[in-house]
Amino acid sequence: MTLIEPSIFKAFSGIRCFLSTRSGGVSPEPFGLNLSFHVGDSPANVEENRRRFLEEARIPAGCLVVAGQCHSDRVACVRAPGVVDGTDGLVTDKENLWLAVSVADCVPVFLADPQRRVVAVVHAGWRGSLGRITGKAIGILSTTFGSVPEDLFVYIGPSAGPCCYEVGREVAERFDRGVVGERGGKTFLDLKLENYRQVHAAGVPASNIETSPDCTIHQSDLFHSYRRDGKRSGRMMGVIGMRQ
Ligand SMILES: [Zn+2]
Repeated sequence: MTLIEPSIFKAFSGIRCFLSTRSGGVSPEPFGLNLSFHVGDSPANVEENRRRFLEEARIPAGCLVVAGQCHSDRVACVRAPGVVDGTDGLVTDKENLWLAVSVADCVPVFLADPQRRVVAVVHAGWRGSLGRITGKAIGILSTTFGSVPEDLFVYIGPSAGPCCYEVGREVAERFDRGVVGERGGKTFLDLKLENYRQVHAAGVPASNIETSPDCTIHQSDLFHSYRRDGKRSGRMMGVIGMRQ
């Protein structure tokens, strides 16, 4: 099984972040290690895939909080496992509670404040990014938990890259021109850069931000991609939490 683990949190004791890939699962292709129950994969396979993923990441069963995800800009503070509907962001100060988002092209953003022992995760597609959900998550860390931006560490994970993520003009024109590219009469959006800008604008130093260079659309050996595989695309899971 291939797990992606960002470098940015490794210096901090107990803070761990993992992203699954396509590899290591029991589901038939193109699902592989699919971790979502909502994409037409068999529930028994998804259960086994999740069990394998959590075992590999050394996350105990029953400690996962999963964002329900509806392309909103809402961020919920959580203290108990389960599924939280109507939200695309989760924050907790509770140890051994693992915050999870499900992704295949959308940007997973992971945030940690090692000083105040708080972690957060965000699912940012183009709608959530436009709603500035990542900036809002930092706002909640600041107002609810007293985090200062200089203490925050952030990982912007693998997602649809500006190399492949073509969008319609009506979507592109709602974003700042700095995150939109034009090639051969087509328009491409850099959602990782948009989220990076939200983090940096909130005051997080560049040296505290790690951005994955990976593109889910063209790196088909490693990642699920809804844009590439359509309705039969599996989903990766990104989790962050604090070990006891
Ligand atoms: Zn690409």
